[in-house]
Parts: sequence; structure tokens; C-alpha cells
Amino acid sequence: MTGEIIAVGTELLLGDILNTNAQYLSRRLADMGIFIYHQSVIGDNGERVRQELDLAFKRSDIVITTGGLGPTKDDLTKEIAGEYFHKKMILHKESLDLLKEYFKKQKREISENNRKQAYFPEGSIILPNDYGTAPGCIVNENGKILVLLPGPPKENIPMFENYVVPYLQRFSKDTLVSKTLRICGMGESTVVTKIGHIIDNQSNPTVASYAKENEVTLRITAKAKTKEEACSLIAPIEREIRYILGENVYGVDEDSLESVIGKMLIDNNLTIAVAESCTGGLLCGRLVNYPGISRALIEGNVTYSNDAKVRRLGVRPETLQMFGAVSKETAAEMAQGAARTSGAHIGISTTGLAGPGGGSAEKPVGLVYVGLYMDGKVYVKELNLSGDRQSIRNRTVTIALDFLRRKLISNSK
Ligand code: ATP
Ligand code: MG
Repeated sequence: MTGEIIAVGTELLLGDILNTNAQYLSRRLADMGIFIYHQSVIGDNGERVRQELDLAFKRSDIVITTGGLGPTKDDLTKEIAGEYFHKKMILHKESLDLLKEYFKKQKREISENNRKQAYFPEGSIILPNDYGTAPGCIVNENGKILVLLPGPPKENIPMFENYVVPYLQRFSKDTLVSKTLRICGMGESTVVTKIGHIIDNQSNPTVASYAKENEVTLRITAKAKTKEEACSLIAPIEREIRYILGENVYGVDEDSLESVIGKMLIDNNLTIAVAESCTGGLLCGRLVNYPGISRALIEGNVTYSNDAKVRRLGVRPETLQMFGAVSKETAAEMAQGAARTSGAHIGISTTGLAGPGGGSAEKPVGLVYVGLYMDGKVYVKELNLSGDRQSIRNRTVTIALDFLRRKLISNSK
């Protein structure tokens, strides 16, 4: 089967946003054995959408559009699709009821524009939007399959995964199963080099790497007659990758660093307190992402000034004077102080220069220390990060969490 993707949106053409939907969908369709020979981007223009649909169906069995399902006048993909197939636009009552309910909750009146989101070309299969107001749809007309998806990736991806993948699987005799391995502490190129022989020799399962902010994911996808058979194809590849990458693999599928750490803390009856300077609460915030963390997290301190570091955490004024706030000595005393003053088993701290100003030759912007107090010992990690203020702060948090995760693993051995 051949497929193609049409991304609709003037912002994409102008370069204001990146066409990440096409990247995501292409990879997933390739996983499913659907050949993608063309991708295109067009603006919010009815005539050009029509021309593009016409061209696409001359050469592909499945056409997937993204964008232009919203309520505004320039959102016109669905209407043009209806015209293209000579279908009337029919009200889908369930979708209208959901829209009404949404607007009622928001205490807003539903407008005529919004109502159009509940109209679909006659005979369409409606794809619920679990993360927004615009449902998508599938029109299957004499073997021409048109899939209309919304533009925002946080709506587009779950709609594709939850409703389009199961639909497309009926055209394949095989079942597709994917497992994602989550990796931290290693860049994408290192990961890909280390498992290069697996990637080079892949056919079934396939292995695809994705680099996200501060982490890498590897998706292993297997095709087989049954789910069990697909899982048994994934297992040895997963084992081999884990053997090569070791502790760098921190989790699978929906895991996050904080969920993995949260579970380890709770399973081992450990408590933790946080002391932050340059990350200003981000580290504690990440831990709080994990539901259930109240059983382990005692408190977080944002001790930005020297005075707060002394008063809240008991950092010694001499330490600050002699080594400065951004030093391994201060990071160590902050971590120790966080644990001591709260009674937690573990204390974790951050102190550093997030920039853009304030750096010196001796202590440049991007110099950060992470302190960790655990089991009566204190460990400090020095980081030399580049990037802007926000990325330095975000990377510090991820590295601090990963540092904690690795120490929890080695301490439980
Ligand atoms: P909405 O209901 O939000 O109007 P829509 O289905 O009409 O959704 P668009 O209006 O085309 O979609 O795009 C909405 C937003 O979705 C864009 O501003 C952009 O942030 C994001 N987006 C759209 N298309 C893409 C794409 N191909 N890749 C990544 N992001 C996209
Ligand atoms: Mg829109």
C-alpha cells in the first residue's frame, strides 16, 4: 500500500512552525509497511487543497491530511474533502453533544463556527479527539482512503495512535506491536553507534531512534500474526539493547525519570528533600509530576540568595565566602542541609550559573553543581552546560534526576 501526507497550514509554509506531524506520521506509516513516496505542505487555501487531493489520489492509496479542522474560516480541509468526494456535510450528533458539553463547562456560548466541527462528509468514520475539540474522520471511497487529522501534535498523535492505527491494521494481515526504551545520559549519536549493528540489520523488528530534549528513545516495532508472536520478536532485541546500553536505559513506554525515581524511593521507604538555587523549583516540580510522590518527598527549598542557603539549609557562611555559591562545597552542604533540616534520608541540590550574565573565566555560564546526600555520604557532580538560560536549567534538572536514579540503583545492589 502507498500513502502520502499533506500538511495544511500557511504557518508551515512560512516556516513559522516545523512540520513535525509529517515526520511522526511518516515513521509510523513506514513501521506499518505503508510506503510513503510523497509528502507535501500547502497553505490554508481551498483551491490548492483540492488540487493537492486530486494529485495525491492519482498516485497513493491512503492520503493523510493534518491541520485545518478547527473552527475558523481558514480551517477548511474537511469541507474541501467533502466537495472532492461529492459528499454532503452531515451533522454527527455525538460530536455536537460533546462540543456543547465542552462549551458548557467553559461557560461559553457555542458559536456557528464551532458547530461546523461536528459536520463530516457523509459516510465518514468519526475519529474522536480526546485532547481537543476538533474530531477527525476517515472517508473510504472506492478504495481511496482519506484520513483527516487535526494540526496540533498533542491532538494529532493520540488520534493517529488510538484510532487510525487500528483502522489501518485491518488492511494488513499482521499485528503491529511497539515498545519504547527510554535512555538518559547518552546522546543519540552514541546510542546509534553502539547499537549500529542492530539498526543496520533490522527488518522485523525495526528499531528507530528519536532524540527528545535530554533523552533518547528507541522504538522497537515488530510485525507478526499475533500480539504474542510480535512480543516474542521484540524480547531478544530489547535484551540485546539493554545489555549494550546498561543502566542508561531508565524505563519503557510511558515511564519518565520522575516516575522511575518515585517508584524506587517508595519501594525502598526512602524520603527526599530538595534544595535548589539555579533551577528555582524545577527539580522539585519534576518529582511532583509523579502521583504518589507525597510518600517520599518531604519538601523543596528554593534558596536563591546566600542568606537563604545559610538560614534554611545551614550552609556555613565560611564555605560561601571561601568557595562561592557556585561550588562543589556549597552544593554538598546544600544537599546535606536539605536532608538534615527536614529529616529526609536523601538531600539533593543544585547551584550554578544559568546566565546569560554573571559568568567569569573561572566560573563560566553553564557551570553547575549537583549535590546528593545519601546514606551518610555526599556526592557532587560538576556540569559544564551550554545553551540558553532555560535549557541550562532544564538540563540540570534532568541530569540531577539521572544522577539520583543511578545512585539509587547502585545503593540497592
Ligand atoms: P485548531 O483547532 O487548533 O485550529 P487545526 O486542526 O485547525 O487545529 P491548524 O489550525 O492547521 O490545525 O494548526 C493548529 C496548530 O497546530 C498550529 O498553530 C501548529 O502549532 C500546530 N500544527 C499544525 N500543523 C502542524 C504540523 N504539520 N506539524 C506540527 N505542528 C502543527
Ligand atoms: Mg486551525
